[in-house]
Amino acid sequence: MSQQLSEPSEHYVDGEWTDGEGTETFESINPATGETLGEFHRGTDSDVDRALAAADEAFEEWSALSYIDRAEYLWDIYHELKDRHEELGEVVTKECGKEISEGKADVTEAWHMVEWAAGNARHPHGDVVPSEIPGKDAYMRRSPRGVVGCISPWNFPVAIPFWHMAVTLVEGNTVVWKPAEQTPWCGQVIAEMFEDAGIPDGVFNMVQGYGDAGEAIVDDDRTDTVLFTGSAEVGQEIAGEVGGQPGKLAACEMGGKNGIIVSSEADMDTAVHSAVMSSFKTTGQRCVSSERLMIHEDRYDEFKERFVDVAEDVAVGDPLEEDTFMGPLIEPDHREKVTGYNDLARDEDVNVLVDRADLDDDEIPDGHEDGNWIGPFVYEADPEDDLRVTHEEVFGPHVALLKYSGDIEDAVELHNDTEYGLAGAIISEDYREINYFRDNAEIGLAYGNLPCIGAEVHLPFGGVKKSGNGYPSAREVIEAVTERTAWTLNNSEGIE
Ligand code: NAD
Repeated sequence: MSQQLSEPSEHYVDGEWTDGEGTETFESINPATGETLGEFHRGTDSDVDRALAAADEAFEEWSALSYIDRAEYLWDIYHELKDRHEELGEVVTKECGKEISEGKADVTEAWHMVEWAAGNARHPHGDVVPSEIPGKDAYMRRSPRGVVGCISPWNFPVAIPFWHMAVTLVEGNTVVWKPAEQTPWCGQVIAEMFEDAGIPDGVFNMVQGYGDAGEAIVDDDRTDTVLFTGSAEVGQEIAGEVGGQPGKLAACEMGGKNGIIVSSEADMDTAVHSAVMSSFKTTGQRCVSSERLMIHEDRYDEFKERFVDVAEDVAVGDPLEEDTFMGPLIEPDHREKVTGYNDLARDEDVNVLVDRADLDDDEIPDGHEDGNWIGPFVYEADPEDDLRVTHEEVFGPHVALLKYSGDIEDAVELHNDTEYGLAGAIISEDYREINYFRDNAEIGLAYGNLPCIGAEVHLPFGGVKKSGNGYPSAREVIEAVTERTAWTLNNSEGIE
């Protein structure tokens, strides 16, 4: 088991563990207990500089290897992820407070991604197309872009880094990765896996730290592509910064204000189950969590009664216990942000149905009094009112019920009435409605008769509008980390 170190844990740069140049350290804190899990060196600009220099230097040799040879290292990591599944799943849960089933699922998703990327090394890709000129062959060739900076969030601390890095490395790029400051222990374990796999020095580098280390990666000329997953605020900043640097690309995946439509034709068990899973699992801290439930007036009272019953009842628990449904929020500051939105909802005069932000002492698991606990906050609002709380991402168990009348066209118009466009679901037994939703919902991840939850690595994962720009995730990452050259070859006699 990777233990918390007695000394501050280090960065992994150019094949070595290093304290770096900075003197500051930071702590990883268990959000369920408040206990310190470990101390980590905080990366500085010069640590990032060293990591980028190493990645830049390693690129030539790494990119010259065959796909199969590069994938071999990833296969070793695939086996490590499987061998260390339980251990790393527990580290995820300890650092980010996700229920243990979710902590382990985070690791599973990571090895699915690695399996997909390494497996693809046996499926050479590119396009061979008929040239428009007889006697000529035309094809598209991919080549790696160079050094890829990967900046990841805390809420999927193992899966998302591999969404960024697996395809990127197999394609022949080198990497400088900054894990989220809330989950450095996960970062350390992943770096150990790369070290154990014997990846050549400089191909994979990890610098621990905060947003300033991320900024240093984004700003540097040696970074050819930035892959970012996180909040809309930071993503927009990065996209703006990179937009001013010709030749550099950024693919940013951001938050959402996701919704579920419960139509007049819904199966009510499916509707309630989907809404509960999407709104409360992982304590509402998934990018695909739903905070807007749009219910047809004919089914509104029935849905409201059942959803409110569950929200009144749902229990928080020790995330390390297998049967816990909901853990804590990530940080005290984030708890303050979520309760701030609850207060704002009250100020905006919505009708509050469930207000369990401040849980009673006996609702909090024994020995976990210092965790960042919160319960559901559910309210009904008028869809005609342009409220901040029904339009901004809260990232917690904060849920609006919005009653609509009319048909599916009205429901989808209401669904699309946010600046975000990440995920959404429709619950309906009517396939005309489902098809209409599929064709008109302004989102990248659409679910029919399912909760907004989960991802499959062989599908694109990303959003539209304020939620995304360029798919830094899963299979689509290839577009951001490869150059495409159009080749036309003359196979006829003589030159025309
Ligand atoms: P965040 O934006 O605060 O931080 C993400 C990463 O960016 C961290 O590593 C952080 O240190 C770094 N960072 C912060 N400021 C930076 C800067 N100026 N320049 C470069 N890097 C910087 O996000 P978070 O709180 O870790 O994660 C939660 C957010 O992520 C939510 O909004 C959630 O919806 C979103 N998210 C989106 C997806 C998706 O695929 N769309 C997946 C998971 C999470």
